[in-house]
Amino acid sequence: MSDDLAEARMRFIYTIRSRGVTDARVLSAIEKIDRRAFVTGVFAERAYEDMPLPIACGQTISQPSVVALMTEALQVGPRDKVLEVGTGSGYQAAILSQLARRVYTVERFKTLAKSAQRIFDELGLTNITTFVSDGSFGLPDHAPFDRIIVTAAAEDPPGPLLAQLRVGGIMVVPVGQSDTVQTLIRVIRHEDGYEYEELRAVRFVPLVEGLGQ
Ligand code: SAH
Repeated sequence: MSDDLAEARMRFIYTIRSRGVTDARVLSAIEKIDRRAFVTGVFAERAYEDMPLPIACGQTISQPSVVALMTEALQVGPRDKVLEVGTGSGYQAAILSQLARRVYTVERFKTLAKSAQRIFDELGLTNITTFVSDGSFGLPDHAPFDRIIVTAAAEDPPGPLLAQLRVGGIMVVPVGQSDTVQTLIRVIRHEDGYEYEELRAVRFVPLVEGLGQ
């Protein structure tokens, strides 16, 4: 790695810490996974800036400090099976792969799913499996999940995802209209129901029905 690149990555980690991320496992995952691998074309040189960036299919790779804060809120353990809805670039799934036993990630655009899977293969992230489908229905064949993270905004947490969360499990999902500021919600499933907690304001692309063209 050149000195400039090493310095840019050090500054990147420092920025993420300065946004309030303290979990050592999350910070170490952010350090290990190079965000640049997930950003192509003219935006690649901005990979270490704390901002969302455009990717293919009119979608975005999330702001890295938001990725880190959402990952921290998810409290992923080494034995956890995690579902991510909205693969996008694959960056969030790659971060999760460092913390969980298995990651299942679902994307409605085949182009994005394929490109993310190629990067996972190149990086040797063998505990991630990518699916092309409407993630609001979850993955019934692989449920229940210990953790679920939705990286697109829904008007309400999708019912099938709530149903596929294990008792004791945690889901993090941005909720609200797509063209406004949304609220990041943490849902904990208890024996006798669900507990909802509002975490912070966020801005995500919308969760859209059906497959992408
Ligand atoms: N986690 C991503 C962020 C991607 S943006 C990253 O780290 O880069 C949100 C993604 O959710 C987009 O790629 C969008 O196509 C996808 N998406 C939206 N609605 C979806 C749905 N119903 N099922 C699966 N993916 C969906």
